[in-house]
Amino acid sequence: MSTPIDRSTTWPYVDGEPGEFDYSRYSSPTLAEAERQLGELDGGDALLFASGMAAATSIVLALLSPGQTVALAKGGYYGTGVMLDELSRWGVRTVEFDQAGPPPPGVDLVWLEAPSNPYLTMPDFEAATVHPARVVCDSTAATPLHVRPLELGCDIALHSATKYLAGHDDALLGAVVCASDADAARLLEFRKRTGPVPAADTAWLLLRGLPTLEVRFARQTETASAIAARLREHSAVQTVRYPGFGGLLSFDVAGADAARRVETSTRLIANKTSLGGVTSRIEARARWEGERVPPGLLRLSVGLEHPDALWADLDGALRGI
Ligand code: PLP
Repeated sequence: MSTPIDRSTTWPYVDGEPGEFDYSRYSSPTLAEAERQLGELDGGDALLFASGMAAATSIVLALLSPGQTVALAKGGYYGTGVMLDELSRWGVRTVEFDQAGPPPPGVDLVWLEAPSNPYLTMPDFEAATVHPARVVCDSTAATPLHVRPLELGCDIALHSATKYLAGHDDALLGAVVCASDADAARLLEFRKRTGPVPAADTAWLLLRGLPTLEVRFARQTETASAIAARLREHSAVQTVRYPGFGGLLSFDVAGADAARRVETSTRLIANKTSLGGVTSRIEARARWEGERVPPGLLRLSVGLEHPDALWADLDGALRGI
């Protein structure tokens, strides 16, 4: 049976006292069920937020204080760095480090990304988790099916559930999964007080997506592996980055003009942003990230279309460069 969507914002008190649910800024039955299911997948206490960035921002504001420093994995989701720059006005400092090695000493929070988007590098979990600071791992592009950060010694797993977890490009949603009860309680308190909580409908879209996550992710992995192998053989392609799992890959063509021609020539593969949906999309990342990425870097998120049809589309676009 599918979980009902309870859109109530208030529930009656029980014998004059608040019951399990009282006001939807605090929680709701649909949200709680989605959190229970995600918590089981990631092996911790899950809390949902109104977006991946709302979840990321809440981690920093709830768990750090002015003057403290985040060690951020280089080459990860550019929006995380933008958010941390924004919070520098509130006294949060950021240093970047190469997540293939140990984080710098003296920092207060280590921020990994597994795999990083769009460079697709994996962290050295052992080196990060012996660091005395709390370790957050954004495992959006791996999903709990491939990387379970808490089992690898991290304190917090972070997801843009907008991507693979919800999976259909119709739900903006974030999630934090905590190893410790104290961190989960602090983040819940922060969410209750500041309000970045998703609506019941959005939480329900996560419940709709989770039962097919495994088959979607397996198919996306199979197709993306085949496409990465073919791109590696293609004369118009320079570097191919693919971690060996999932539907996200990036590759470089000769420059910005060539990248633009490719992204605007595909027909089956949409020219749009985001990742993890059931339909494929491609974009030159320099439009968002500027000089952080090579001008010819294209990010491809593979959906559920037939692999031969996807390759024919991509190959046709590459031939037109
Ligand atoms: N983390 C990663 C790895 C992402 O790719 C994104 C979005 O692209 C985010 C976090 C932010 O998530 P949202 O767009 O749901 O706020």
